[in-house]
Amino acid sequence: MIPLNENTWYAFSSMNRPSLLVSACLFGNTCRYNESCVAFKDSLWIEKQYTLIKVCPEQLGGLPTPRNPAEILTSRVVDAQGNDLTEAFVLGAERALAVARASGCTTALLMDRSPSCGYHQIYDGTFSGTLIEGSGIFAQLLKKNGFTIYTPTTVTALLSDMHVPGSEPL
Ligand code: SF4
Repeated sequence: MIPLNENTWYAFSSMNRPSLLVSACLFGNTCRYNESCVAFKDSLWIEKQYTLIKVCPEQLGGLPTPRNPAEILTSRVVDAQGNDLTEAFVLGAERALAVARASGCTTALLMDRSPSCGYHQIYDGTFSGTLIEGSGIFAQLLKKNGFTIYTPTTVTALLSDMHVPGSEPL
């Protein structure tokens, strides 16, 4: 019989938490293009509710960190020097999707405005800080595969929808 103590309980309750696919840079991984992570004020309560499956599609696609900033321009991903990075972004998105599937995730919390993880809003490809409607390569792939996607902007809906798998964010 397994003796019950605080650690046993933690392991058991952690196993019972639903899996949530997340952009790794929202939870402390310094994987952004400039080797930073994001100061995300809601990270603590989310970590308590979910088993986090952290992915960085750009790193999974073989891109180095740090790297040049990149944006989507007419369906290609280009960096600020004009290099076409589309292949690496697509490969990374596919690899990250495979991780998500292997972990049983159906819901994702993705970083805003990224050419990989951005959902509903991204930069326009001119490196001028101009935002347009659209999603990053990874977010597009997740959506195509039926994932429910939240971002830091819609994260409060994740709390209210937490027990309703497949429900749409606000
Ligand atoms: S690809 Fe996604 S996880 Fe990786 S740094 Fe960019 S926003 Fe964060």
